[in-house]
Amino acid sequence: MRELTVELGARRYPIRIGAGLLDDAAGLRALVPGRHALVVSDDNVAPLYLGKVLAALSGKAVGTFVIAPGEQEKTLDRFADALDALSDLGASRDATVLALGGGVVGDLAGFAAACWMRGVRFVQLPTTLLAMVDSSVGGKTAVDLPAGKNLVGAFHQPSAVLADTATLATLPARELRAGLAEVVKYGAIGDGDFFAWLEGHAEALLASEPAAIVEAIFRSCAHKAGVVARDETEQGERALLNFGHTFGHAIEAEQRFGGLIHGEAVAVGMVLAARLSATLGRAPHGDGERLAALLDRLGLPTSLPRGLDAEALLARMRLDKKAVSGQMRLILWRGIGRAEVVAGIDEDAVLRALGG
Ligand code: ADP
Ligand code: ZN
Repeated sequence: MRELTVELGARRYPIRIGAGLLDDAAGLRALVPGRHALVVSDDNVAPLYLGKVLAALSGKAVGTFVIAPGEQEKTLDRFADALDALSDLGASRDATVLALGGGVVGDLAGFAAACWMRGVRFVQLPTTLLAMVDSSVGGKTAVDLPAGKNLVGAFHQPSAVLADTATLATLPARELRAGLAEVVKYGAIGDGDFFAWLEGHAEALLASEPAAIVEAIFRSCAHKAGVVARDETEQGERALLNFGHTFGHAIEAEQRFGGLIHGEAVAVGMVLAARLSATLGRAPHGDGERLAALLDRLGLPTSLPRGLDAEALLARMRLDKKAVSGQMRLILWRGIGRAEVVAGIDEDAVLRALGG
């Protein structure tokens, strides 16, 4: 088991990573000091792991709220249902909300925890690699609106994150690979040594070899925790975590969220950002090739899916939250391990990176 501590001013909380953490009933129970707990999960995860959590919490007043899987459930309606579940439970201020699942469950449960009685304890039990290395760390919670993803939400830090890597055994391989894209991102934006380590362990990671997986999650969480500690509300450095994301979000949206999944779109987006950086003379072409080669070995896409229109993608990118007062602002890099925010980018260059 590996553990690290996230420090945010006076607050601090542990992230524990290891195989079998959900089997440690005493450890789990210790995270729920009050009498009430609501466990939020989805229909894929609940049959596999909810029993372990409920067993650990026996004797407490525990409710469950299980949603259908998928981003389309991350709505204000489901948020209201989660609050109703807390209400039915008679949850008081000392209640704990536990999120058992991937990023969808974490975002929804976290937002309910942020709002119930103006904020109650929240524990993340991530079961996807993406949630373990990204969404469960940093305190962002949200639901979607028809107008866009994550438009309503709050910053609400968890009181603990328990990443039981044994749960990854049942995660579909495609979801595991998508999570690895975000792992590569940490190396790409700020840690050349980690990037090289990933190049040396690509096969072990794809095979979910326990030691390699735990190490990759630990280093990813450490990176994100450090960034979040220095910039909790995304005024500066935290923006670098969006490397590949403005391109990636445009791809996801153009495909109406029915094509590449998030991590895959980010993989393509990172390659495009690296290519644009090289075209603008800011980074060596070779670093972009190394990035694409690593992603390719991890079974991730590295070029735009066929049939996407460059102009339409560019229009989506203009609308991205990171665009400030009409100027295109993107996360580019100087090379492996050295991401940077670049404003005022020439749109023609972006269009060319998109194949237009
Ligand atoms: P993400 O964490 O990638 O944002 P989701 O919360 O949508 O995404 O989870 C991705 C999919 O994987 C969902 O269908 C979810 O039910 C399923 N899932 C999550 N964790 C596991 C697991 N450990 N085993 C099997 N399926 C899982
Ligand atoms: Zn992401």
